[in-house]
Amino acid sequence: MLLHEACDSLETSARASPLWDRRGSDVRILIAEDDAMLADGLTYSLRDTGYSVDRVTTGVEADAALSTSEFDLLILDLGLPRMSGLEVLKRLRSRGSPVPVLILTAADGVDDRVRGLDMGADDYLAKPFVLAELAARVRALTRRGRSAAAGATLQHGDLSYDQVGKVAAIRGQTLDLSARELALLEIFLQRPGHMVSKERIVDLLCQWGDELSTNAVEVYIHRLRRKLESGGVEITTVRGLGYCLQKVRAA
Ligand code: CA
Repeated sequence: MLLHEACDSLETSARASPLWDRRGSDVRILIAEDDAMLADGLTYSLRDTGYSVDRVTTGVEADAALSTSEFDLLILDLGLPRMSGLEVLKRLRSRGSPVPVLILTAADGVDDRVRGLDMGADDYLAKPFVLAELAARVRALTRRGRSAAAGATLQHGDLSYDQVGKVAAIRGQTLDLSARELALLEIFLQRPGHMVSKERIVDLLCQWGDELSTNAVEVYIHRLRRKLESGGVEITTVRGLGYCLQKVRAA
């Protein structure tokens, strides 16, 4: 199965790379760059700024990471081994992912740049560039991603969620949810139809300031699942991987 293969290769690269780190800031950036010195510099400076950074060195690893994990920004070298950056980008957008993408191109790579932007990249930098310029683009792109995600009301099936007022309702009937359950619901509603891993849920919920075990996540999922029963949506379990909010298909 494709998803499992992707996950396997993602985990292999996670183990192989000492720079892989799932914790840190809530803004998560994936760097896909095979030039070790450049990738080291980017990783160091972005982490120093407070971003959470994961990195991969081939197109295949980038594609696997993007298929299985959530990122707030992708920094993508177009000249990657084992699958070109343009192919990674094409696959990413064909999956419907809106993640902002900053492409890195050779100084003379005008054609690549144009193709990348045509294929849905949001911005580009030509090598060599100064880190301050990269940092400014990263700030702009992560901000843009955030504000696009922060629309007032999220809707999925008969379920609606007012992100400002923190009120969830099914066909206009307000649901009685705890703060934790609301936070959990918001995580799913911001990624409808996408698998969210248990570890990612722990990361996101822990922004609330306290510790949380993956067992506790299961309990919250269970409670929330029950409360959503009449809403035409369900939280399905992707075995061994995580959870996914889906619309219930009419019988
Ligand atoms: Ca390269």
